[in-house]
Amino acid sequence: MRGDDHTIYCVLSKRGEQVICPYCSEGETRVIDSREHDRSPQVRRRRECPECDKRFTTYERYQMELVVVKRDKSREDFDREKLKTGLVRACNKRPVSPDILDGVVNKIENKLRAKHTEVSTQMIGNMVMQELKRIDKVAYIRFASVYRDFDDIKSFEQEVKLLTN
Ligand SMILES: [Zn+2]
Repeated sequence: MRGDDHTIYCVLSKRGEQVICPYCSEGETRVIDSREHDRSPQVRRRRECPECDKRFTTYERYQMELVVVKRDKSREDFDREKLKTGLVRACNKRPVSPDILDGVVNKIENKLRAKHTEVSTQMIGNMVMQELKRIDKVAYIRFASVYRDFDDIKSFEQEVKLLTN
């Protein structure tokens, strides 16, 4: 058995993307064993470096495209900065730290990417509201007032009353 000190978790953007050797930084390593799991997007691989002959283990996951479908049916790539901006705006002058907001963005992005390649703005909005409701009620109300459908305004007003009473 040769050394197996290194286990690398990597997110690859496309099939066949190279994993760099952790020992000598050689840019191309050979796959010697590959184990896929039905219920996991993650593949465990044993790799060998042709340069230094060392072996290591990788857990590789492919970053699938995530497309957001907007209300007017137009589509755009998921943009975590945009999500963050919406959260920052809702939490303006509220006692919510940037770390907490980063955590929310990560949580939502991971949840989305784990299951979907296409999501609606409404779905993202609902996930954000769930999180904000827990973190800061004022931020939640601000965010909800922007994101909720106008049709929904009655039930929204009721909810605001419940929260503020
Ligand atoms: Zn190497």
